[in-house]
Amino acid sequence: MEIGVLDIQGDVSEHISILETLGTKVRKVRRIPDLDGISGIIIPGGESTVIGSIMSQRGISKVILERRIPVMGTCAGLILMSGNVEGERGLIPLLSITIKRNGYGSQRESFEADLAVKGIGKFRGVFIRAPLVTKVESGEVLASYNDKAVMISEGKHLGVSFHPEIYGDSRIHSLFIDRL
Ligand code: GLN
Repeated sequence: MEIGVLDIQGDVSEHISILETLGTKVRKVRRIPDLDGISGIIIPGGESTVIGSIMSQRGISKVILERRIPVMGTCAGLILMSGNVEGERGLIPLLSITIKRNGYGSQRESFEADLAVKGIGKFRGVFIRAPLVTKVESGEVLASYNDKAVMISEGKHLGVSFHPEIYGDSRIHSLFIDRL
């Protein structure tokens, strides 16, 4: 099994090293041909508008949807895979949720919190200008913070509003891979 990591912006190398720790083959995805044969793709955090416009210019988002490639999106990645982003459809609307960008505040209001993740247990979440999930229509909420969902799965897709890669903890990546 080979997993792709979208290589446009963000903690690409951190995601890759976690996947390698798990013994998974990894491929950086920059263009459409890089999507051939992968079993899933990770979309790292960054600036969702930038990542989204490059993904659509290069046709990557369209192919992910056509081939139904399972996606794990973190932070900006979660924004892109949300069905509703402040009244507009996300670029790859795979999760039936509504999102408010920067809903936890600005960069200066970034924070960390211990979360209780279903099937994993305690996990340190790092929230950097994180999106706020304001509504979940379907899927499963795997973790919440202050009564708001911060980790949601729907089918094989997994969305996380925080950065699970920062401390090198591989358990959330492992959960994504185990479901593929
Ligand atoms: N606030 C950013 C956005 O809207 C996401 C921040 C992040 O990915 N850490 O794209």
